[in-house]
Amino acid sequence: MDVDAVIKPEEGEVFDVELEEDILEANRRLAYENAKTLRKYGIRSFDIMGSVGSGKTSLIERLVEALKGRYRVAAIGGDAATTIDAERIGRRGAKVLQINTGKECHLDANLVKKALARLDLSSVDVLFIENVGNLICPADFPLGCEKRIVVISVSEGEHMVVKHPYIFAEADLAVINKIDIAPIMNVNTSKIEKDINVIKPSLKVVKASCKTGEGVEEVIKALGL
Ligand code: MG
Ligand code: ZN
Repeated sequence: MDVDAVIKPEEGEVFDVELEEDILEANRRLAYENAKTLRKYGIRSFDIMGSVGSGKTSLIERLVEALKGRYRVAAIGGDAATTIDAERIGRRGAKVLQINTGKECHLDANLVKKALARLDLSSVDVLFIENVGNLICPADFPLGCEKRIVVISVSEGEHMVVKHPYIFAEADLAVINKIDIAPIMNVNTSKIEKDINVIKPSLKVVKASCKTGEGVEEVIKALGL
């Protein structure tokens, strides 16, 4: 059956547009400051975005394991309420800070600025920031990182890319995670890759399994590490 009607907000509806623009502008300014700070210390920085359960923490754990012999790795974990993920990353040998966002469903440049002030930046080479599990608003809030990575998993359903175009448009790398269960889930990862390429043809896509380790080296290469 066809959908009877599709209702979209008019300009100025739902949100106070001016207020929203002020917030986004303020965030951009702070993101620029963060980027300058990170560059000053020669830190390579990566914002990891994706839904709850897509494998952001697992990817960071794999990256920390693989990189800790060559770089001094730190991580900032964004989570609404817990330190569970940050503890997992810390156990892999990275220095970890936690940001609890409470009711905020994304990290913003201001929170990251505060976290950077608490890190000894002269002893960090590579910084991973795990964003809050959400595929919508993190797209609007750059943090000042060198690259933004979106992690999706085959368990999220075959339409998840077309439902969240903005996050892919903003990303520098897409990781399709959990490819080890793609056959069981009956998911065609090439279809997901094709959907991503329609949104942003230049976006590099890596198929990976953070469980088996497949594709992790390719992610590292794509990040230039
Ligand atoms: Mg996580
Ligand atoms: Zn949000």
